[in-house]
Amino acid sequence: MKNTDNEIFNSLKALFTGKRVKIVIISHENPDGDAVGSSLGLAEVLGNFGHEVNVIVPNVYPEFLKWFSSELKVWIYDIDKKEAKNIISCAEVLICLDFNNPERAAKMSKQIIQFQGTKVMIDHHPYPVQFCDYMISETEYSSTAELVFRLVTETGLKDFINYASAEALYTGIMTDTGSFSHNISRPGPFLAAAELMKWGIDTEKIQSNVYHNFSADRMKLLGYCLNKKMEVFPEYRTAVIHISRDELLEYNFQPGDPEGFVNYPLSINNIIFSALFIEKKDVVKASFRSKGNFPVNNFSQRYFGGGGHLNAAGGESKLTLTETVERFKQLLIEFKHQLLGITE
Ligand code: 5GP
Ligand code: MN
Repeated sequence: MKNTDNEIFNSLKALFTGKRVKIVIISHENPDGDAVGSSLGLAEVLGNFGHEVNVIVPNVYPEFLKWFSSELKVWIYDIDKKEAKNIISCAEVLICLDFNNPERAAKMSKQIIQFQGTKVMIDHHPYPVQFCDYMISETEYSSTAELVFRLVTETGLKDFINYASAEALYTGIMTDTGSFSHNISRPGPFLAAAELMKWGIDTEKIQSNVYHNFSADRMKLLGYCLNKKMEVFPEYRTAVIHISRDELLEYNFQPGDPEGFVNYPLSINNIIFSALFIEKKDVVKASFRSKGNFPVNNFSQRYFGGGGHLNAAGGESKLTLTETVERFKQLLIEFKHQLLGITE
């Protein structure tokens, strides 16, 4: 069944345009632009309709996402645990945005699984887990924000979009497509972005807020990663960057600083696979990007307990940073044939 068919939209129309209810919107751990943008965008719309809406994310999100016009508070479960638990226990509807497996909500997964009210999932990653009453799961969509815009349109809530929601949804589409450069297989993201511009949003300012907002330390960290920490293997069409906790601390690392660094090696001629390994307190976080049809989500799921999209995925490793990188290099030998055969 196509998830974006009339039946699901009719059900969600009944849920969202009936009596006013308490709604909690939750997104995934290490929230990115689509997680925060789709959550604030939908929360604004549902709030304008008259619902009581709260947004909660499992942990902190980067500074370059802290400029939205929306005045809604984004509760951080790690910091506001008591309030967050209270919000969830009072809510009648729980909406999961930009993830399709309770595990992606990390410390909040138990709250989600045990939630007694109506559960809705709106997401664009492959391999969804069935844990919601209503599920919109469409991998064709560039971003959850684009799906939210479609949902809002189909359920007759478009009149409740305001400047703040248009800005947040646009940001979700922009960030998940790398400024409209990938994750685009249909006109949809451009059409949605063009429609959202009708609310008078300042797309140049959004672009600049997200991408031209580096701290000096973050810019230096990027330079260090590319200059000193990147290894290029033309024979595998692969590049890898690995960075230790001590190195991060040297650059006064802030959460989210290395976000996007994994994309840079793909600008190297003939490189189609890029990996970034970051040493965290108790785990090594892995990010993977690819060009063409090398499926980094399957690679990450198989070897790093993660997942994501065909060309953008993440996961983690319990080995040390050095061991993780060694293991990755071993895997490249196994994947050599496949990597050499990929057409961009
Ligand atoms: P990033 O590399 O930017 O952290 O994540 C890239 C993509 O992979 C995003 O769509 C994100 O949701 C997904 N992703 C990141 N980490 C994980 C993970 O640990 N598990 C799964 N299933 N997906 C992940
Ligand atoms: Mn997304």
